[in-house]
Amino acid sequence: MKKISLHNKQFEHFVSSEQIQSEVERVAAMVNRDLASKTPIFISLLNGAFMFTTDLVKRFEGQCIVSFVKLSSYVGSQSSGNVEKLIGLKENIEGRSVVVVEDIVDSGITLHHFLKEIELLKPSEIKVAAMFYKPGSCKYNIKIDYLGMTIPDEFVVGYGLDYDGLGRNYKDLYKLSK
Ligand code: 5GP
Repeated sequence: MKKISLHNKQFEHFVSSEQIQSEVERVAAMVNRDLASKTPIFISLLNGAFMFTTDLVKRFEGQCIVSFVKLSSYVGSQSSGNVEKLIGLKENIEGRSVVVVEDIVDSGITLHHFLKEIELLKPSEIKVAAMFYKPGSCKYNIKIDYLGMTIPDEFVVGYGLDYDGLGRNYKDLYKLSK
């Protein structure tokens, strides 16, 4: 199996791009079923969700707005626990259907805080789309409406996810070698 190294760490192949794309296809069908007629606003959490967002919105069959917010709770390969909002939301989301697009839900702290914040802006509904979810490490009760796949509690890179800035460009997912 393919291995990659980023900085001083080795990662091994974990999920193929074909499998990822087939899960995105399934997620997109659910989003279309619920929201194709509602002109939703997709809010993508940068940087990690850029690839999932691109693949998801390309398959969206209605009209929509795509917006980006930058947050960070990770330094290196461990969650710092601090959630920082770096680039705010410019669109008015009051009365609109919102889809928050997240790359991976780990502890859940990022999404927990972000959802509380956007609820104050009174959208008509908030849906959450996440490509990956680690149920073993999630500490918050977060409803993921549209989920790509659950994965074990491993540090992963690729498909938008980085290790200290590197690895986002891989179309497959890799996990840290033990
Ligand atoms: P949480 O707030 O749920 O703990 O983590 C959310 C963010 O941390 C994700 O959007 C992602 O950017 C980063 N993250 C969580 N788990 C991983 C992982 O396994 N690999 C990488 N590269 N980033 C992760």
